[in-house]
Amino acid sequence: MDLSKQTSGAELQAKSPFELRVNLGRDVPESDVRKALATGDMGFLHSFTTGSAVDGPGVRVVAWTTGCQFRCLYCHNPDTWTLTNGVPITLTNAVEEIRKYRDGLRIMSGGFTLSGGEPLMQDRFAVKLLSALKANGIHTALDTNGALGDRVSDGELEKIDLVLLDIKNWNPDAHRSLTGAELGPVLDFARRLASHKRPMWLRYVLVPGYSDNLGDISQLAKFCSNLGNVERVDVLPFHQMGRFKWNELKLDYALSDVQPPALNLVQQACAAFRAEGLKAY
Ligand code: SF4
Repeated sequence: MDLSKQTSGAELQAKSPFELRVNLGRDVPESDVRKALATGDMGFLHSFTTGSAVDGPGVRVVAWTTGCQFRCLYCHNPDTWTLTNGVPITLTNAVEEIRKYRDGLRIMSGGFTLSGGEPLMQDRFAVKLLSALKANGIHTALDTNGALGDRVSDGELEKIDLVLLDIKNWNPDAHRSLTGAELGPVLDFARRLASHKRPMWLRYVLVPGYSDNLGDISQLAKFCSNLGNVERVDVLPFHQMGRFKWNELKLDYALSDVQPPALNLVQQACAAFRAEGLKAY
């Protein structure tokens, strides 16, 4: 396959990741998928948007990758789970596309955020893209579930200005039930970011009945406070905006009856983080 003919940013533009996208990379031969994963010279993106104010500091360009090893019960983008649901794009095209926004992003104290899916499922592409953008003077952020953090070397961590780490639950059993994955590697990555003094924001999705145990939230807050590198905590109230995707993809959605958390619960969660000296919103 001639990678130079792959997608440019125009085809990736989306108002938000709340757009169902499937099979966009299904024609890429398996050998090219393997080569892309090994080299990072091509990546698979679900979509790309400009003007986000909720994915890191300032106003940001955000690209959502495909591929995720977690199966969060509340995931609002299950179409990102499969790598080849994404649009193939060369690293060169991705860098060129994002570079166009450099001056505007600087003025708005923003930058670029790579989100997903789980971006480190495509770790070589993620590292090469973030490194190239940082070299172009663009602030870089990685939004990750953290479980594959050991795929990024210490030197490569330096190319990422900010890690938005999603810790889904403090309780290991609840974490496993909620995500299908182990908590340990996520916490190991958080500790490693702290030991290298890499700035981190915690993202915590608050789901009634699943991640709203205030005792567990307090323990997580204590852990984050002790790390010393957590600049901010975003408590993200669960919502039902992704439910239609589960239906479209014919997946069993366990949270149909779960309501978004009451304002009082969100405030209590924020208070638990603030009680440990963290800035929580
Ligand atoms: S880590 Fe993110 S993309 Fe993956 S299943 Fe969980 S919410 Fe969805």
